[in-house]
Amino acid sequence: MTDPQTTNQQLFDSARDLMPGGVNSPVRAFGSVGGTPAFMVSAEGPHLTDAEGTQYVDLVGSWGPALLGHKHPRVIEAVHAAVDAGLGFGTSHPSETRLAELVRSRVPGAEMIRMVSTGTEATMTAIRLARGATGRNLVVKFAGCYHGHSDGLLAAAGSGVATLGLPGSAGVTEAQASETIVVEYNDQEALEQVFAERGNDVAAVITEATPANMGVVPPAEGFNAFLREITERHGALMIFDEVMTGFRITEAGYWGASGRTEGWTPDLFTFGKVIGGGLPTAAVAGRRDVMEHLAPTGPVYHAGTLSGNPVAMAAGVATLEHATSEVYQHIDRQAEVVASALGQALDAAGVDHSIQKVGSLFSLAFGTSATGVKDYAAAQAQETFRYGPFFHAMLQAGVYLPPSVFEAWFLSAAHDDGAVQRIVDALPAAAEAAAAA
Ligand code: PMP
Repeated sequence: MTDPQTTNQQLFDSARDLMPGGVNSPVRAFGSVGGTPAFMVSAEGPHLTDAEGTQYVDLVGSWGPALLGHKHPRVIEAVHAAVDAGLGFGTSHPSETRLAELVRSRVPGAEMIRMVSTGTEATMTAIRLARGATGRNLVVKFAGCYHGHSDGLLAAAGSGVATLGLPGSAGVTEAQASETIVVEYNDQEALEQVFAERGNDVAAVITEATPANMGVVPPAEGFNAFLREITERHGALMIFDEVMTGFRITEAGYWGASGRTEGWTPDLFTFGKVIGGGLPTAAVAGRRDVMEHLAPTGPVYHAGTLSGNPVAMAAGVATLEHATSEVYQHIDRQAEVVASALGQALDAAGVDHSIQKVGSLFSLAFGTSATGVKDYAAAQAQETFRYGPFFHAMLQAGVYLPPSVFEAWFLSAAHDDGAVQRIVDALPAAAEAAAAA
């Protein structure tokens, strides 16, 4: 336990001396909202508590995994039992099969599964697999979609890359960048043109099932079905990145945004966050004939010392087993309450905005009411300067929002009416702070 006398500022000063920016993942440094990051020391239910003893209602949810809330008793119990059995075996073991079964039973098209440790590793592996299976090199991604930090996928990426206003990343070679074609999201014509010119070289189109890393940007009606059709027509694979949406967006059942597809499935999926229940697990899944290109059945290499780690598998299994339709209904309902209170508070303060929402995932964009946000260009054109004051007013009132306007807000099964009320009560003053920015 941290010394209660230690302040967030002291912790940040020490951290900055030891770690670039004082963090292990850029957005945590509060760069775009300013101020000193709160150093959290514990999490329970809908709450986080920092080193100074301040308790916050958490709307980050560990960036997605905490679907059931923090420290859900059944998840903790499963993790304790797994720890008691040993931290890792470096061998096959029964609970990785159990998690794979849970994924397959809920995701049409996820015929086989390979566990990895992070979402980045999942998308990187899916891309290599698509290239290996098709014998083609090019990958098409959409501006503002974030697929982790592997070299070829950092072009025009959302999330922290958007927060920091970077075009991509130093250290990515031109050769790698040249094999990624970036298209504006929701732009069918641009994609038609790419395929008309280079269709025979495209290994895969990768897309977030519902983008949520440039704020939440719902796919235009029929857009995902169009991606299925055009990839199939040109012999390319379609990769649905469900690291964020998988087992969280639930409108048509509880298997992620792909539950919203009508009668078709992508070739490959990537999952992360919720399937690890808060521990480092992610996965590639998809068509059997494609997945069997992975070693040892095929020539596409992937391996991992910690892939399928038993403690992480236990957290994932317990989380999915308790992710019932009642849980999703509760989260959807609470998200609706928070999103509409947010809209009312901003309207009352005269702040132009739009709130974009798919299932329980939603985000806020200032100054965009005329057009909404349908792509990355629109997301970047918003009045980002209003978010810092808004964020800090919420923090002051004990609500921990994502420290970037480009990130979605995450509710959980543990957000009861009391926690939601605390959020709702904090909104009017935060809206005033945004208005005054
Ligand atoms: N894909 C998507 C859609 C994501 O949202 C993220 C992370 N936010 C990733 C991939 C990368 O996952 P990780 O941070 O676990 O590497």
